[in-house]
Amino acid sequence: MDNSRRIAFKTLGCRLNQYETDALISEFRHLGYTVVPFSQPADVYVINTCTVTNQSDHKSRNMISQAIRRTGQSVVIATGCMVNHFREQLEQQPGITYAVDNERKSSIVSLVEAHFQGKMVSPGYFPGDKFHFPLTDRSFHTRSLIKIQDGCDNYCSYCIIPRVRGRAVSRPLPEILDNIRQVTEAGFKEVVLTGVNIGRYQYDNQNFEDLVERILQLPGNFRLRISSIEPEGFGEKLFDLFSHPKLTPHLHLCLQSGSDTILKRMHRKYDVKTFMAMMESVRKRYSDFNFTTDIIVGFPGETEEDFKQSVTIAREARFSHIHTFKYSKRDGTLAARMEDQIPEVIKTQRSRVIREISASNKIKYYHSMLNKTQEVLFEKKGKGFSTGYGQHYIPVIVHNEFANNSMRKVMLTDIDEGKKEPMLIGKPV
Ligand code: SF4
Repeated sequence: MDNSRRIAFKTLGCRLNQYETDALISEFRHLGYTVVPFSQPADVYVINTCTVTNQSDHKSRNMISQAIRRTGQSVVIATGCMVNHFREQLEQQPGITYAVDNERKSSIVSLVEAHFQGKMVSPGYFPGDKFHFPLTDRSFHTRSLIKIQDGCDNYCSYCIIPRVRGRAVSRPLPEILDNIRQVTEAGFKEVVLTGVNIGRYQYDNQNFEDLVERILQLPGNFRLRISSIEPEGFGEKLFDLFSHPKLTPHLHLCLQSGSDTILKRMHRKYDVKTFMAMMESVRKRYSDFNFTTDIIVGFPGETEEDFKQSVTIAREARFSHIHTFKYSKRDGTLAARMEDQIPEVIKTQRSRVIREISASNKIKYYHSMLNKTQEVLFEKKGKGFSTGYGQHYIPVIVHNEFANNSMRKVMLTDIDEGKKEPMLIGKPV
């Protein structure tokens, strides 16, 4: 009879949240807990929340209610950015056993253990530590997320993150190198650097480029991917580093708007000309480099003309994917107090336009990659096929059954547009 305690997790939001949940799951497993799907009965539920938009609040509250209703006597832990945003509310909400803020998220294992030992503890009893999460073992994802930084000092006028993740802080460089050695020795073939504003990494006079350079010098058969990054805080040196075979030729470079007027109102730290020059500088070096981005539509005061400028840049910049967000009013941010809030119907129309451009850009980019080879890291296998991502962060399907976490070179021969998301078809070479 397996009397180990059952624990279930739900993670909302960004890769940073995913990294933190993965690490907690690994530790609970090492302690003998059985990790069950969130839909099943469990002794403990952990909901790692997000509060970046109204929708993420709604989804987070929904998951918390589901956990509370599931058995009615489980330990329910709400953690993550929504706790930092609505702390008192969640601490007083019936059914939530513990509301744990971002600073103490890494101590959730100790909190649960103390709880089951019958100790009267509260999350505040544990030290705040943003980086000392347990090592993630290899069972979940094909890629290993590595947290290098937390918090942000930029205070973009629409963004709640500095309020819920705090000031920018960088993880000690030696710890990051150790973490990467451990996960690559454990068999991970791809490492993804994540944080809130990673381009602003700074530790002991070493900036983001220095960190990337040090990681690329580490031994081992792995590749390095940079997750979402703000278009400031790093220099040309980073672009040179993309010539290294380990560094994957893709950047998710957050534009947010194609209008300088709106970028100013957003308190972004660049203008459109600088942003485009950055992309051009990279493409001069690597003609098939893959850029993806984020664009917010319907920011307060966004005129038809401003929006037309976003449409123009969305096309001209040839992003292979555009995460499109309808501006979401966040209390406590400057933009929430701005006049000229845009009606929801306009936001929806503008969002549809950008998504259509994104879809056509994607097909154009996939066509430009045909008859080229990709090193594909396979992560899903089915009857007679396997899927994964190439180094350019493009989804590839092959009609062979390759093991998950295996890397193979394939020739891109065609595009399968039939699927929800188009994929490239590859033939092993
Ligand atoms: S750079 Fe701006 S949008 Fe990004 S986390 Fe910081 S404040 Fe938010």
